[in-house]
Amino acid sequence: MSSEMTPSYDFHGKVAFVTGAAMGMGLAAARAFAASGASVVLADLDEQKAKEQAARIVAEGGKAVGVGCDVSVEAQVEAAIDLTVETFGQLDMAFNNAGIQVPTSDAAEELQENFNRVTAVNQFGVWACMKHELRVMRERGTGSIVNCSSLGGLVGLPQRAAYHGTKHAVIGLTKSAAIEYAPRGIRINAICPGTIDTPMVQEMLAGQPEAMAEIMKEQSIGRLGRADEVAQSVLWLCSDGASFVVGVALPVDGGFTAH
Ligand code: NAD
Repeated sequence: MSSEMTPSYDFHGKVAFVTGAAMGMGLAAARAFAASGASVVLADLDEQKAKEQAARIVAEGGKAVGVGCDVSVEAQVEAAIDLTVETFGQLDMAFNNAGIQVPTSDAAEELQENFNRVTAVNQFGVWACMKHELRVMRERGTGSIVNCSSLGGLVGLPQRAAYHGTKHAVIGLTKSAAIEYAPRGIRINAICPGTIDTPMVQEMLAGQPEAMAEIMKEQSIGRLGRADEVAQSVLWLCSDGASFVVGVALPVDGGFTAH
């Protein structure tokens, strides 16, 4: 099977904003949006890679720009959203995906700097992105936002309190903003990926090869997920096919949280 699925949606005339878009699930979603006809802004801490990936989409016939953006700095998020509207005229869809892991730790030994960093990117970053996306979307009274939580937003796991705390928080942000903005024409949802084969997980497995057996115990489908499979859930939530779906935290996890 090809690593990128055939487009199932028609997003011609729509504009998508994706954070953490230089690699992994963000890149897969940005490429899937572009393949479906959307104009895409790829925002990432790694400005050079974001621009390279945008140029690749353009070379393939799509519409895209890359922008450097640290989602833990509100002014940079605000500027990236403003750039989106200046470049493509509007904002219809957003995937607030940028996130980091911190090293696993005994909860009694977790370093404050790690807690602060993971919270700044994973929780504050989603808050800042939603705030500025809504600032733009509410003017037209239409739009769809997908926030990236995790299986870590639905269950606890030992040694991961700080990361899982941020991903639970993403669901709280999602549900509250979703019910605030559903009457105003904007749908907000979250996805909760299981363990997906991305650079983040490859790095984690390189450091703890024994973790794969543990993951497979719970991931009923018996394999890691692919970034393009997650991207398809994001596109569906942004599509008219999900027009009555508001405030959900959708597991895309090969059965992990069904246990
Ligand atoms: P990845 O590490 O492969 O890619 C993350 C991207 O985000 C990178 O391009 C990185 O440069 C960018 N980024 C990091 N910090 C940033 C910041 N402050 N501002 C802007 N961009 C930043 O990660 P991934 O595996 O694709 O994960 C994407 C999201 O999915 C994260 O929120 C992660 O927590 C979540 N998630 C991943 C998995 C998994 O198994 N891979 C599972 C559940 C949830």
